[in-house]
Amino acid sequence: MFIKFDAKSDRKLLFYSDYLASIDKNHAEIARKLNEPDYKDILTEKEKKEIDRNSDVWLKQSRNEWVLKKKVAIKDKPIDKCQLCNTRLRKEKWKIQNKINGKNLWIGRDCGSKIIALSEQGNNKDTADQAKRRELLYSGSRKLREVTDGISNFDLYTRYVLTQPFNDRVGNLKKKIKICIDDYIQKDLKHDLTHVIDAYNIEFLRLQKEYNRYNSDVATDGQHLPIQIATKIKKQRQGTALIREVQNNKGMLDKRIASKIMIPEFLDLYREQMNDRLGYTLCKSVEQARIILNFSLRGKKLEIKYNSGAVISSLGFPVELSDTKSEQDIYDILRTSNTVITDVSTKEFMNQLVENTLKKLRITRCDSITVDKVRKYILLKEKYDKGKKTSTSTRVIENKLRKYHLWIDINRNIILNLEPQIVISTGQELLVSVTEDKYAVDSLLNNAKRYSEDELLQKIYMDIQVEDARFN
Ligand SMILES: [Zn+2]
Repeated sequence: MFIKFDAKSDRKLLFYSDYLASIDKNHAEIARKLNEPDYKDILTEKEKKEIDRNSDVWLKQSRNEWVLKKKVAIKDKPIDKCQLCNTRLRKEKWKIQNKINGKNLWIGRDCGSKIIALSEQGNNKDTADQAKRRELLYSGSRKLREVTDGISNFDLYTRYVLTQPFNDRVGNLKKKIKICIDDYIQKDLKHDLTHVIDAYNIEFLRLQKEYNRYNSDVATDGQHLPIQIATKIKKQRQGTALIREVQNNKGMLDKRIASKIMIPEFLDLYREQMNDRLGYTLCKSVEQARIILNFSLRGKKLEIKYNSGAVISSLGFPVELSDTKSEQDIYDILRTSNTVITDVSTKEFMNQLVENTLKKLRITRCDSITVDKVRKYILLKEKYDKGKKTSTSTRVIENKLRKYHLWIDINRNIILNLEPQIVISTGQELLVSVTEDKYAVDSLLNNAKRYSEDELLQKIYMDIQVEDARFN
């Protein structure tokens, strides 16, 4: 994978600096090629690998070689180009000089401030000589390269989230190698490192074996967390902390952790697992932090959006149902959690349920109070009362009637004003209403206002008068 060096200024900097060319003739060859326009074609695979591995160090060391000599303001039409990035110089040009090979470059402010600012940070502890020794040490020992690359690759290529103990051991080995090599380079030690590197290699191979076994063994148990999903989880609230919990839990999910995961990709896995476990499709879809269950209870189809955390807490992770449960059983399990139902179709269904229940009680929608009836009533009233005139326009009367939700109790010939919208707040209420085939009809009826037809017409008449007074 050859990813670096799209930036022309970086390639030119390596070419004009002393560092890369002075390591050995192989590196000098890389520097020469990086200066060519077709560098991507002429670099060998081995050279590209070197670049990927070391270019950060090369750039740091190269920047350190340069000092700023002067800044010159450009007053005339810009003509010169930056010798690093080749863009036309405007406003200002900088002259920088290489402390080692004496080269001078005229460059723009953008390139200049990058090189000078970064070289002055001194965030690289190695001197140029030390950096070269370090590089030669690595290029001379394939084993050392394999071990250090391998250690970083555990994290990069694992299929499942690794356990914390494993990560700790990898981290320790990494640290041990770093301390050893830093010491060797910075104290300018000369002894043979072969045995030390062999020991690291043995430790690394042991880890690698465990790693491979882990990644193949855990693939089927459904409790270990695939890395692609873990990456998504990190983006949710508290996501990083959740992944840490998984790492500390032997790389596994459990009910407690899983119920906090809200991303659809994970809930989709849970959905598949739940349906598999049950042997039928209880859950067709999920969305952010919601699991949408399709119930069929007493011949009625319900679609309910449950809070996913509540479902996973109730049904377990992995789904803990020992036998294939009936939908009623699952409903019973879920209703213990105060699940909020937000689904519109379920609410509509509940309204239908209310209507059906009312019908059984012989309460139906009232259609006897018409605009005409109200108008006649008003005219009649005015005739007797001799008060001021009241609106009888169709629009005014229709508006007024729309505000009432009129039902009629046929048994007693009473008109009821019922609440318009049934609000279902929890899963438990819903369950009760479905199993008992009614939804809080009692409380609806208790709260209803009751009128005879005459009383209702009188009320509407008064209401319109109040409204008239407000507008006049
Ligand atoms: Zn430039």
